[in-house]
Amino acid sequence: MSHKEKILDIIKQLKNLKSKNQPVSFSKKTVSHFVPSAHTSREKLPKLDLKSLDSLLNIDPKKNIGIAEPGLTFSELLIESLKYNLIPAVVPELKTITLGGAISGCSIESMSYKYGGFHDSCLEYEIITSNGEIIICSKDNNQDIFDMIHGSYGTLGIISKIKFKLLPAKPYVHLLYKKYNNFEQYWNDLQKYCQEKQFDFIDGIIYNTNLFILCLGNMEDSAPFTSKYDWLKVFYKATAKKEEDYFKIYDYFYRYDADCHWLSKKIPLMETFFGRLFFGKFVLGSSNLIKLSKKFGPKINKGKKPDVVVDVFIPNNNFPQFYNWYKKDFNFFPLWIVPYRAPKIYPWVSNSLASKIEDAFFIDAAIYGKENNEKNIDYAKMLEDKVFELNGIKTLISQNHYSRTRFWEIYNFENFKKVKQKTDPNNLFNDLYKKMVR
Ligand SMILES: Cc1cc2nc3c(=O)[nH]c(=O)nc-3n(C[C@H](O)[C@H](O)[C@H](O)COP(=O)(O)OP(=O)(O)OC[C@H]3O[C@@H](n4cnc5c(N)ncnc54)[C@H](O)[C@@H]3O)c2cc1C
Repeated sequence: MSHKEKILDIIKQLKNLKSKNQPVSFSKKTVSHFVPSAHTSREKLPKLDLKSLDSLLNIDPKKNIGIAEPGLTFSELLIESLKYNLIPAVVPELKTITLGGAISGCSIESMSYKYGGFHDSCLEYEIITSNGEIIICSKDNNQDIFDMIHGSYGTLGIISKIKFKLLPAKPYVHLLYKKYNNFEQYWNDLQKYCQEKQFDFIDGIIYNTNLFILCLGNMEDSAPFTSKYDWLKVFYKATAKKEEDYFKIYDYFYRYDADCHWLSKKIPLMETFFGRLFFGKFVLGSSNLIKLSKKFGPKINKGKKPDVVVDVFIPNNNFPQFYNWYKKDFNFFPLWIVPYRAPKIYPWVSNSLASKIEDAFFIDAAIYGKENNEKNIDYAKMLEDKVFELNGIKTLISQNHYSRTRFWEIYNFENFKKVKQKTDPNNLFNDLYKKMVR
C-alpha cells in the first residue's frame, strides 16, 4: 500500500468512528510502552488502526535527512540508516519504541545531553486531524501545531509522516564505566562531562548509595573486541564489574533491551546464566517483558498497587535535592540517570512552571520496578508530589494521580486548547487529562 493509500484508509476509518461519538484509541504494530496500561478503559475505546503506517520512506545521505511513517521502530530505522553510516540524533534504548510514540510521548537516551528528545531533531510532521484534513507542520509552517505534538500523547492528531535529521556515525562504540563511591564526586563529574561535550554518549546508573557509575562513550572506527548483551549477559551488572567495553554501534544502542533495563529481575531466574540459557529466548527483550507484564501483572498483583515504572525530569539544579530525598524516602536502585538538554522549555509546559525552571537542562531519573505494596504509602503518588515540588516533570507513561487542577499547573492548558481547536475540535482523540490520568 502506498503512503497515500494508507492515509486515505485512515481518513475513511475516522469518518466511521466519528459517528460513534466516543474518543478513539490507536492500535499500532508494536507493544505500547505504557506499564501497566495507563487506562484499562482505554482498551475498550473504539480503535483506530494505524498498523499500516510503519514504513521507512526515504534516507537522503547527502542531506542527512530521513522520512518515515510513525510506526517504524528505531531499531528498523537504525538497521537501514547504518548502511549510510548515519544514526538518528536520539535512539531510545528499547527495540520496539516507534518514532511516532517517541514524539507523542517521550524519548531519553545517552545522546539526550546534547540533543534532547528525538522530536528535537524532527524537521516536519504530516498530521491527520480528526476531520480527516492533512496538515504539514514545521518550524516555519503551522509552528504552534508542530511545537505541541511532542508530549500530546496522541490527543492532538495522528502523526502520519515524519521528516528528521540524521547524524554521521562510526561502526563501533567504546564505553568507559567510571565508578564513584559518593554522590558529590559523581555529580561534579557528570556536570563537567556534560559541559565539556567530549563524549558522544553519557548516561549513568546509580547502583546503590555506595556505587555510582558514569557510562561515557565515543564512536570509533575499530574495536579490539565487542560485547553484546542480548541474551546470556546482563548489561547493567557488567557496568559494575568492568572498566570498559566495546560494542558494534547497533548493539550499543540496545544494551538495555534484553533486560528492559532491569525489569527482568521481576521474573525468577532471569538474571541467572541457566535461566537465561533455557528461557531467555522466550522471556528476555523489552517487547517480551512488557507483553508478559501486561498479561500476567494484573493477575499476579490483583488488589495490589502496580510497581512504579516511570521517568521523571528534574531540573539540573534541583537534582542533588531530589537525590537526597530519593535515597532516604524512596530507596529503590538501580536508578538510571540520563542528562537531557532541551533546546528550550517546551511549549506544553505551563507558564507558571516554565517561569520556575532556570535552564532547560534536566536529569532524567528512570525508576523501573519499585514495588508499591505498602498499605499506607503510595510511592507513585509520593514521587509525583516530590517531582512537582522540585519543579520537575513526570512523564505520563504509567500511573498518574494528578487532580485536574494540579495537572494543568504543569501542562499548558491554553496552548493545548488553541491547537486542539484546529486539529480536533470534536475531541475524537480525547482530552490529555482524561486520557492519561486514571
Ligand atoms: C519500562 C520502560 C522503559 C523505557 N525505556 C526507555 C528508554 O530506554 N529510552 C527511551 O527513550 N524511552 C524509554 N521509555 C519511554 C518510551 O520511549 C515512551 O513511553 C514512548 O512514548 C513509547 O513509545 P511507543 O512507540 O511504545 O508508543 P506507545 O507507548 O504506543 O504510544 C505513546 C503515545 O504516543 C501516541 N501515539 C503513538 N503513535 C502515534 C501516532 N502515529 N500519532 C499520534 N500519537 C501517537 C499514543 O497514543 C501514546 O499516547 C521507557 C518506557 C518504559 C515503560
